[in-house]
Amino acid sequence: MTWLDLPADSLFGVDNLPYGVFSPAEGAPRAGVRVGDLVLDLAAALDDPVFAQASLNPFMAQGVARWREVRARVTELLTQDRHRAATEPHLHRLNEVTLRLPIEVADYVDFYASEHHATNLGRLFRPGTPPLTPNWKHLPIGYHGRAGTVVVSGTPVVRPKGQRKPADAEAPVFGPSVRLDIEAEVAYVVGTGSALGESVAVADFAERVFGVCLLNDWSARDLQAWEYVPLGPFLGKSFATSVSPWIVPLDALAHAWVAPPPRDPEPLPYLADAGKQGLDLTLEVRLNGHRISNPPYTSMYWTGAQMLAHLSANGATTRTGDLYGSGTVSGPREDQYGSLIELTAAGAKPLELPDGTWRTFLEDGDEVTLTGTAPGPSGSRIGLGEVTGRILPERPEPPAFWRT
Ligand code: MN
Repeated sequence: MTWLDLPADSLFGVDNLPYGVFSPAEGAPRAGVRVGDLVLDLAAALDDPVFAQASLNPFMAQGVARWREVRARVTELLTQDRHRAATEPHLHRLNEVTLRLPIEVADYVDFYASEHHATNLGRLFRPGTPPLTPNWKHLPIGYHGRAGTVVVSGTPVVRPKGQRKPADAEAPVFGPSVRLDIEAEVAYVVGTGSALGESVAVADFAERVFGVCLLNDWSARDLQAWEYVPLGPFLGKSFATSVSPWIVPLDALAHAWVAPPPRDPEPLPYLADAGKQGLDLTLEVRLNGHRISNPPYTSMYWTGAQMLAHLSANGATTRTGDLYGSGTVSGPREDQYGSLIELTAAGAKPLELPDGTWRTFLEDGDEVTLTGTAPGPSGSRIGLGEVTGRILPERPEPPAFWRT
């Protein structure tokens, strides 16, 4: 129950309460909690300067006991009538604020945890060989991405340029990507880190990870195909990675935890499951407003807990603000694929959109939006924030006089 006037089916009711950073019409950026189509100014409502900053990192660094305390307090403020008069003045309408990148991204890692996606990509990138590499079911495969180019939803994406080698050409060419793609992913945000030389156990996931968001790992498939052997993705991915503006705390996902798929073979002991650490999330991918896929996160082979245990297994430091993506979420069916390279069989089967246009890869002006929901209490749903981005044409070369 709440004194707020929220529709019963709101995806952002008082059971969700995700965190973000916003700029009000006047004043400096600050942390907030979303409820319905409003955002609560936490620094003002809680009279706590840790929230009067342009990033959630200082709050996340305070640890899981403090996260739970703040969530309980915000829930009280928004549900008990006696707090209404003091709290209401600190609510802003979402359409009157600017949402910002909610965290200062420390390190960014991207995994490859969907068996369906890895199998589909293996067939497309390495025809004639087994689609899953021999290591795939023994460890969550990942690569280090570029933290500095993680951007918030709404940030335009300039078509990247780079080297690609057309199939019928003898030598590579340089120019704008002609196979620009998306990857629909879920990402985890580390709240409290671990020291150099330590590792985070699978069972410690919930006290280290602050929450989850949606992530679009924009991918230039032509650049990627030419550059990725033998060291993995590089410039085909690092030009931009978009995240949703709201971090949904793990405590809001209490009704979404599910057992991960059966393991065969059993992973090594440091990757052994510690309870239900899979997540029942349903994603939606829209291209220019048309739904083109519904990837099911439930089907992911590796859990977020296993990814964190693996990325720190060698003693690498983890830090407040570390962000790690799940890898493209793809289910077994064609309408559950999380990338255009899968949805169009690498361009061989163009998609017809309801407006009569056809797509293989992204064209300039295209807009991609990812949304997601999770089960909430009593059959309700809670929403993840949406992540959207529009493709801008490649930047023209600077005029000749700039180079003299
Ligand atoms: Mn990815």
